[in-house]
Amino acid sequence: MKCQEAIILISGKLDGELIQKQEQELDLHMQTCEVCRKEYDDLLKLREVTSNMRFTDLPDRYWAGYWNDIYNRLERGIGWIFVSIGAIIILAFGAWEFFDKFLLDTNNPLLLRFGVGAGIIGLIFLLISVLREKLFARKHERYKEVER
Ligand SMILES: [Zn+2]
Repeated sequence: MKCQEAIILISGKLDGELIQKQEQELDLHMQTCEVCRKEYDDLLKLREVTSNMRFTDLPDRYWAGYWNDIYNRLERGIGWIFVSIGAIIILAFGAWEFFDKFLLDTNNPLLLRFGVGAGIIGLIFLLISVLREKLFARKHERYKEVER
């Protein structure tokens, strides 16, 4: 067998397409021909490396990043939900206590009750305004991430 024929058979062997007779002839040639044996080894190694890259390394890295991203978003979402629930409970409790103990207590002067009530309503509006600004800023940041 000539080396030119052997080279053609080598790619066939790597693809598993050789009939038994061809494979035996090629093996016989490679036992005596250093050049073709080295060619076969190199191609075999190259094929192992590329198939490893395609089927293990890349998807692993890809999926790890993907799940990390999902997890981060989920974590932040859950965090916001708990903070919101906590804030609502505290505000509701505070408001109830305030109406019950202070505004409905006729022992306090009317003007003082009016002043404190107005101040607290103002604070609530400021809080809502800040929260809305924060939420808007987060949406805007997310949009910038997509743009990049
Ligand atoms: Zn050869």
